[in-house]
Amino acid sequence: MRAQELVEKAKVELTGKRLIWNVLWYGSHLAIFAYGWHSQQNNAKLAALNGLRFSVWISRGAGLVLAFDGGLILVPMLRNILKLIRPRLMWLFPADENIWFHRQVAYQMVFWTMVHTTAHYVNFINVERTQVRKQTAWEIHYAQPGGLTGHVMLLIMFLMYTTAHKSIRKQCFEVFWYTHHLAFFFMIGLYTHATGCFVRNSVDPDYISSFPFYSTEHCLGYQSWRFTIWAGILYFGERVYRVIRSRRKTDISKVLLHPSGVMEIRFLKPSFKYKAGQWLFLNVPDISRFQWHPFTISSAPEDPYVSVHIRQVGDFTLSLGDRLGATKGIASETLDYPDEKGDYGRRKDYIEINPKALGNGMPVLRIDGPFGAPAEDVFNSEVAVLIAAGIGVTPFASILKHIWYAQRSGQLGALRRVEFIWSCRDTGTFGWFQTLLEELEASQSDPDFLRISVYLTQKMDSDTVQNITINDVGAEYDPLTLLQSRTLFGRPNYKQIFNSLISGIESGSYLPGREATLKTRLGIYFCGPSALASTIKKDAFAVRTRSVDIKFFKEHF
Ligand SMILES: Cc1cc2nc3c(=O)[nH]c(=O)nc-3n(C[C@H](O)[C@H](O)[C@H](O)COP(=O)(O)OP(=O)(O)OC[C@H]3O[C@@H](n4cnc5c(N)ncnc54)[C@H](O)[C@@H]3O)c2cc1C
Repeated sequence: MRAQELVEKAKVELTGKRLIWNVLWYGSHLAIFAYGWHSQQNNAKLAALNGLRFSVWISRGAGLVLAFDGGLILVPMLRNILKLIRPRLMWLFPADENIWFHRQVAYQMVFWTMVHTTAHYVNFINVERTQVRKQTAWEIHYAQPGGLTGHVMLLIMFLMYTTAHKSIRKQCFEVFWYTHHLAFFFMIGLYTHATGCFVRNSVDPDYISSFPFYSTEHCLGYQSWRFTIWAGILYFGERVYRVIRSRRKTDISKVLLHPSGVMEIRFLKPSFKYKAGQWLFLNVPDISRFQWHPFTISSAPEDPYVSVHIRQVGDFTLSLGDRLGATKGIASETLDYPDEKGDYGRRKDYIEINPKALGNGMPVLRIDGPFGAPAEDVFNSEVAVLIAAGIGVTPFASILKHIWYAQRSGQLGALRRVEFIWSCRDTGTFGWFQTLLEELEASQSDPDFLRISVYLTQKMDSDTVQNITINDVGAEYDPLTLLQSRTLFGRPNYKQIFNSLISGIESGSYLPGREATLKTRLGIYFCGPSALASTIKKDAFAVRTRSVDIKFFKEHF
């Protein structure tokens, strides 16, 4: 990293909310470390052990931090509990950044593990040298619970951390997923790490014949597991509950194939209640008993079915396409643009799969969820800017439909205007939600309430562009999308979009009747690649003014 970048990063980390977070996060770790060190150093019962001095105090301090982090690391993975508390506690912490938080705890654990392990290696060598215990370093390392569980945990951490690297997750998600389940054994190791009279105030404590097989008078043990185990119990309980819930009755009602091979699965699950913008885990035992894949719900809670739109990209989704008789091949023959004559004009935007044509009928579906998502909060904004890239449109399909239902029942909350911006690589992509967008646009009594801007990012040859332009002249509808709003070519210029939006709000032309003294709540909701999320956020905050309160929410696949 260059000096300039370092200065920029330091500026971000040392201002505003980031500064508070850094002080609390690193401060709490250092405070726990200091407390562990202090309590070890001043424990009269451990006077003999304290003769080892710094290495023993450091190992104790770092051990206590690891116990704390060992409990904390599971908290962001309590998905159901998070879903429940999310709406009430969003003001306090960003509940949608649970995976980010999980990673922060994991980074701390690596650091403190290095400190703890190094200090213990010094301890054990010194124990052998001073004979403060009548044991060799080798025995403590490999023949006692503390050393054994420690080494097993180190091995598990090595496997989990290496396979969690972005490059592995991108290339072979299953390797990461299955290896991460070693966490179960890691936790058992953590809870039992200080058993077996590992910490004692006597050189040679008495062993007794019944559980816990040593005299508790001399075996002091560290008791942190009594606190940390609760997160483990909750997590385990959640996983069991999720398995039970996922097996409740679910029937596929329809499978639609859209352009570019996107499958829309509609299913009925009476026990499944969700909010617009949430997502679920889907499992198809016919394809894999253990793989659970996340997909955003594209239907609205008011719809009589639940739907997901699935892009066929890899092993699981392609096998699912095969199993449902909805392959990419069929899509390109019947639905994709341009057609065999090179025409970009309208083709069908879906075909329905006939279940009778599937030799072994519709497969069994297991659904786990729903889980929270940032787009849930759209009704708290006065102006909502929904930005989707490619398949990132799915949560907004649900939100837009939900808004439409809310409009009809007059329950729009604070919401006064909606800007929907969708960048698609090719023309076929529009077909995923063409009918929905057409209907939404046609149903607007206030033409200003919902503005749809579709961007086509694919490069087209000049003949095609000319063709489209000729077709467009004087036409009531856009020749590509069949919407009244025209397709825009190239990538959206977000800075310009936010700039004109904010100027419009401030001048009163965008929200007529808005009180000049009030702050307007502008919510930007993005779903697409993370790199684009950072650019959009930066562009939005670069043009922020005092009279517009901008909140940015992102979801990435
Ligand atoms: C919250 C969320 C919502 C999503 N919503 C949609 C949606 O509405 N429509 C859609 O088409 N796609 C969605 N995705 C992406 C979808 O989960 C992956 O495309 C799918 O799991 C790919 O599986 P595969 O084996 O076919 O492809 P692979 O080639 O194995 O994977 C393709 C990409 O998906 C990632 N991936 C694979 N398996 C998983 C998994 N179990 N969990 C998380 N990521 C995985 C991989 O890291 C890789 O980057 C969503 C992802 C997330 C995290």
